[in-house]
Amino acid sequence: MRIVTWNMNHCQRSESSRARAWAYLRDGLRADVALVQEAQPPPGLAQCVYRPIDAANPRYNWGSAIVVFNPDLELRARPRIAASQFPRGDEVHDSHPGTTAIADIVDRDGNVQLTAVSLYGQWAYMPDGEFFAAPTLHRIFSDLSSLLLRADPPRVLLAGDFNATTQVAADGPWSKLEIAEAELTFGRARALGLHDVMEHTRANRASLDPCSCAGPKPCAHVRTYRNRNRSQSRPTQLDYMFTTPPLLAEVTSCAVVDDAAAWALSDHCPIVVDLRPPTGPAAIPGRAQNETSDTSGNEHEQVIDDSELYEMERQHMTRMARMLNGELK
Ligand SMILES: [Zn+2]
Repeated sequence: MRIVTWNMNHCQRSESSRARAWAYLRDGLRADVALVQEAQPPPGLAQCVYRPIDAANPRYNWGSAIVVFNPDLELRARPRIAASQFPRGDEVHDSHPGTTAIADIVDRDGNVQLTAVSLYGQWAYMPDGEFFAAPTLHRIFSDLSSLLLRADPPRVLLAGDFNATTQVAADGPWSKLEIAEAELTFGRARALGLHDVMEHTRANRASLDPCSCAGPKPCAHVRTYRNRNRSQSRPTQLDYMFTTPPLLAEVTSCAVVDDAAAWALSDHCPIVVDLRPPTGPAAIPGRAQNETSDTSGNEHEQVIDDSELYEMERQHMTRMARMLNGELK
């Protein structure tokens, strides 16, 4: 199964460019499933989960969406509820509508292959005019807790434009707040059991050179964004793809489509992942074995650390739920 994530830059594109971008997703990249942001899916798509961030505001009359092109797959939207409600069954909170689309991808036999989350880190504006994506991202991660903190390992793929990055520069215009927020935001994703697919498959692609990050080189960053779509702009990664461990073990390839065809249609470029069909029992969280890419010693260590964090968080949430139900004192 091929899944593509892409920010389609709806506001700044002409009607004909938008139409070409949708054709490129379906026919050029041959996506079975597309997770798109800054998008307004055209009418007539058979399988689409979408709502705009603000239909009445021309600046935000677009949003995140999930589209299925493969007729052998079925899209089932997850019911969304207000943050004040208690989630039941498949319900997921939605405290910032339009920034996430969530749906189960179901095969012909009726089996749920995975749950897909298309995510957009909408800017949160401060009264003084500053803006950050982290406040929105934290609301989204809170919403996703009921999806990710499950007793059974969930099969979740989350991808999109975070408007935030782990690519924090050693020097430059970064404030201490931005650096702290980046660590906290992406640390929170790991605490929810999510693993960076680009990091996982880094051995299969050339490293980004130069990369402005302060981390050891070569790093796992990729270019997914060009400021004002200029080819000479600083290579920037704003787009990410994460999965839970059962799906990470099924990744066969992951590529960034950093080429002229993509840049002609958006100021972001797509990330494409291929998943093989699941063959054995689902992997236990954090004990997933990397079967497809070369792993560094550091990465193995990272997986165990994250799984312990995940397990602690899950046990904490389970205990909290039992306390609320009056089972524990
Ligand atoms: Zn880097």
